Amino acid sequence: MPDAGLDARLAPRLAQLRARDRYRTRRVIDGGHGIHAVVDGRRLVNFCSNDYLGLATHPQVRAAAQAALSDGCGSTASPLLGGHNRHHRALEDALAEATGYPRALLFTSGWAANMGVLRALLGRDDLLIADELNHASLIDGGRLSGARYRRVAHGDLAGFAAALDAADRQVQRMVVTDSVFSMDGDLAPLSELRVLTRRAGADLMVDDAHGFGVLGTRGGGIVEHLGEAVRPEVYVATLGKSLGSAGAFVAGSETLIEYLIQRARSWVFSTAPPPALSAAALAALRIVQGDPERRAHLHALIARFRAGTAGAGLELMPSTTPIQPLLIGADADALAVSAKLMDAGYWVAAIRPPTVPEGTSRLRITLSAAHTEAEVDGLVAALAGAYSACAA
Ligand SMILES: *Cc1c(COP(=O)(O)O)cnc(C)c1O
Repeated sequence: MPDAGLDARLAPRLAQLRARDRYRTRRVIDGGHGIHAVVDGRRLVNFCSNDYLGLATHPQVRAAAQAALSDGCGSTASPLLGGHNRHHRALEDALAEATGYPRALLFTSGWAANMGVLRALLGRDDLLIADELNHASLIDGGRLSGARYRRVAHGDLAGFAAALDAADRQVQRMVVTDSVFSMDGDLAPLSELRVLTRRAGADLMVDDAHGFGVLGTRGGGIVEHLGEAVRPEVYVATLGKSLGSAGAFVAGSETLIEYLIQRARSWVFSTAPPPALSAAALAALRIVQGDPERRAHLHALIARFRAGTAGAGLELMPSTTPIQPLLIGADADALAVSAKLMDAGYWVAAIRPPTVPEGTSRLRITLSAAHTEAEVDGLVAALAGAYSACAA
């Protein structure tokens, strides 16, 4: 072993994580990552996936990927050096149309998009104002940009207003927020944030990873859902959640996208996504837009789940989205309820710090259009049983 010293330093830290119920492990899926999956050899109904519309294993999505794969696998280079393919271009055009922006630019992941955009748009002299529950990639991207970072309490409009007021108008200020908060499921107060940023002459950047595909009559995301008045200058969404593929995109003006092509380092210096993933995402987008029944079923399941849990005396966090968390509190309790659910055939992950604040460990239950009413009812019953067993 080249460096026994490193292992000697890391091992006690691992032991400490284990002792505090903070140790994390992976489960192995055999076959497709659908809502019905074989997990460590057991067939489970998945209630912790982000496959909100059941498209990850959809036959048309798989067929589109397979057809594109027959031409080859990797894109072999960054988009500027020969990695850009007609499948990428077609997807960018369709995503711009779907979100109502002049242009869109594909990134390999949401993580890469947020890093690249924030570092390209902000620098040492600028001010970033962010909700404290923003996704980790927005936090790290903000830090990497070198801008001053002002963290505002979750959804605290007075806090956002104060941060904007306190800043010099000569300073470039950008408010950055998730649209749907990934571990809470609630929506950012975007209508109000848009008014505040307009009044202050500040920019607005929104990460719609959990809204795109799910919100809006055609699945166009948070802007379609709340209305044109909230449209941010910088819009980011991912392709790995409701679209069931992988990657992400930034949408905005012609000028913004051209600027990112020159300056977003995580885009310029990274191999373009495999074309087959873009072909899959485009097929998924066509289903998102052409099959509103899927979204209607999802939203009906959300209502059914909330009514069912209320009837069983379980209090979910306030959320109208497919993310329906049940706050538990202690890490060990959250793990215990999750384990009981798994024994009953339901996969619901326990989310612990540092993903969520201390003392707020929870079950992050996510619903999908691929679930049936019977499965949702079954989860409610299993949840009621597992929860009361742990509370006792
Ligand atoms: C998942 C997620 C990301 C990261 O996207 P990846 O494509 O998985 O890297 C970024 N922002 C939010 C809000 C997310 O939920």
